[in-house]
Order: sequence, then C-alpha cells, then structure tokens
Amino acid sequence: MAAGEAYLARRLRPYTTTIFATMSELATVTGALNLGQGFPDTDGPAELREVAVEAIRGGHNQYPPGNGVPELREAVAAHQRDWYGLGFDPETEVLVTVGATEAIAATMLALCEPGDEVVMFEPTYDSYAACAAMADAVPRLVRLHPPDWSFDPAELAAACASPRARLLLLNTPHNPTGKVFTADELGQAAALCADHDLLAVTDEVYEHLVFDGAHVPLATLPGMRDRTVTISSGGKTFSFTGWKVGWVCAAAPLVAAVRAAKQFLTYTSAAPLQLAIARGLGFPRERLDGFAVDLAAKRDLLCDGLSSLGYEVYRPAATYFATTDIAAVAPGLSAQEYCLALPGRCGVVAVPSSVFYDPADPVAGATLVRWAFCKRDEVLHDALTRLASWAA
Ligand code: PMP
Ligand code: GLN
Repeated sequence: MAAGEAYLARRLRPYTTTIFATMSELATVTGALNLGQGFPDTDGPAELREVAVEAIRGGHNQYPPGNGVPELREAVAAHQRDWYGLGFDPETEVLVTVGATEAIAATMLALCEPGDEVVMFEPTYDSYAACAAMADAVPRLVRLHPPDWSFDPAELAAACASPRARLLLLNTPHNPTGKVFTADELGQAAALCADHDLLAVTDEVYEHLVFDGAHVPLATLPGMRDRTVTISSGGKTFSFTGWKVGWVCAAAPLVAAVRAAKQFLTYTSAAPLQLAIARGLGFPRERLDGFAVDLAAKRDLLCDGLSSLGYEVYRPAATYFATTDIAAVAPGLSAQEYCLALPGRCGVVAVPSSVFYDPADPVAGATLVRWAFCKRDEVLHDALTRLASWAA
C-alpha cells in the first residue's frame, strides 16, 4: 500500500505520487543527471526576475484580485489577439490561475457532473486522470500511435459520440510525445465538438516551444471560440516553471464557471510573479520565437545522440521532451524497470512513458521512455556519455 493510502479517498488511490516527484527524488538521492521532470536548468530572462523583485520591493504583496492582476489579464488578452487573432475581454474572459495545473483542475471541477466522460488523447499528461477523478468524471482515452502519434478518426468519433461525453481535452503541443496537432486533426475535433455539443478544453502550455509546424489554438477554428476553454501558462515559455502563473481564456459564462471552482481552491496567487509574466507576454515576437530556436538545437543534440546509441527515437515537433523506444538497447526490460535501473547504472534519470497510459493496459507504451532536453548543452553531452555505458 502506498504512503497515505489508508486514509486517502478511494477515488484518489491510484494517484498517490506523481512520476515526476518520484523520478526527481531518485535523481536527488542518487546524484544522477535529471532528464526526467520537465524543468530547465537555467533561469528565464533576468529582466523578468527583476520585474518580480521590484514588484515585491514596491509593495505588491497583498491579495491580488481573485481573477488576477489587471496587467496580466490585459497582457493575456493582447497575446491571444496578436498571436492568434482571438479577442477576449480581460475583465470577463480571462482568469489567472496557479499554473495550468490549477486551471485544468478548476475547469474539470466546474464543468463535469459525476459520471461525465472527458475525451483525452493517450498517452495523457498525468494530472488529467487525477483531476477527472476529483471531479468524479471518467477519462475516455483515444490512443496516439508512433511514429507520428496519429490517431484513428473513428476512435475519436466513437469517444465523442458517447452519451456521457461532456468535454474534449486536447493538449497541443502534446506532452509526452511532442506532437503538434495538425489543422486537419483539429478540424476533426472541432466538428465532433459541434456534432455532439461538447465543450473543448485545451492545454497549450508549450504553445511557444514549437520546432516543426505551427501551433494552432482549437479556439481559432470556426465555431470553437465560444465552446473552448483555452489554458496556458508562463512556466515553460519563459523557463520559470517554479512560478506557477497560468491562465484561462474563454467566453464569459465559461470563465465564470471555472472561476467559481478556482476561487475556493486558491482564490488567487502570487501578485509579483503575475506582473513579471505580464511583462514577458509583451515581448516582441522575435524574442518569444527565440526560445524555441535555442530549444530545437537541444532537441537535436539529444535525439541525435540517443539515436547513435541505438535507441529508436521519436523526434518531437515541440515541447521539452523526446520519446524513445528502449527495446533495442535494453531487450526484455520494461520502461519502468529500465528507468529504475538507469540512475544506478548510468547516473541518468528519465521517465517511463508507460505511466502516461491506462494502467489497465500493461502493454501500452511498455518500452517507451521520455527524456527532457531543456538542459544545458554540457549536461546533455554528459548524459549521452554516461548512457553509452549502458549501450556498451
Ligand atoms: N500541462 C502540461 C501538458 C504540462 O506539461 C504541464 C507541466 N508544465 C502542465 C500542464 C502544468 O503546467 P504548470 O506548471 O503551469 O501548472
Ligand atoms: N510538466 C512537467 C513534466 O511533464 C512536470 C510538472 C510536475 O511535476 N507536475 O515533466
């Protein structure tokens, strides 16, 4: 029995600890290089840190408004307008949250009745099933298939046609696969939402970390603006994952619903950090695009290195993460076994992607491993050198 399970409500028992916490702790205890949890090992722009420090010195230290500081709500609205041509009223259609994580939780709590189904693509980011459980809702999984992480349109259509389907939760760019959903795929999703009167929820935290293709918010598709809750956050874009500044954009009645749940989870969040992220969202286009250029070089470094060590590499189009199949390098081992042995054998930590699949299906993703490349080049080189000892 996992720690705390004796006391934990039944619906949360499958979710005692996150894989990210487990693997980061393993990295700390063993002193291994941490290519597990997705956080950069360098800080984001110094200028944004200074805005936060100045805000603290300048007295922005009491509760900000429950829906977020006006500067950030206005910056989010301007960002959606300038990047995607989407208009949102910063007063009624933007809500600041504690990272995307709280936005996802509050949205499911606000929009789901017990037993409602949330259609989501598998592998799924770990908090989705847990948040569905908190809301007493049920994940309805649609499988993404390597190497291009495509899905069977009939499978998506069947999931959306279920009489209990309520939400379509779409994460693009996608964690853990690094897939950027194509215009055609988004069109299919939008048509199904309209046909079955589903609300859409999008998780777009990697919107600015795209290397191949372009990020298209689902809300920009015809008819989708008013049935989509768009979620993003500043952590990944600006390399401040510890700040936990996120936001929701949606039509006013949807934002009002999400706010009703959010206000009793946290009410509000760190004012100085909201002001700093507001400044960042106003960066000129070239500066925001520059983050992905730097990261693409790291993707190539890690993917080329893993490939030359014999791993089958699924090169991501976006995000912080590359996926490999380890079958050729570690025959007979599951991803879980491999990732538990890796710190001891090579001094490197990675995440078994099998945890992002339905636990009832032990075969799914059984040999897939996720590697974070949002690290200094010397760390990536060092990790590859260490990994050569496994391959040898
Ligand atoms: N969604 C996805 C797909 C993620 O990878 C993450 C991790 N950043 C989150 C949500 C959580 O974002 P935040 O740190 O802003 O809560
Ligand atoms: N999003 C990060 C990842 O996928 C983890 C964030 C967390 O630890 N909850 O690695």
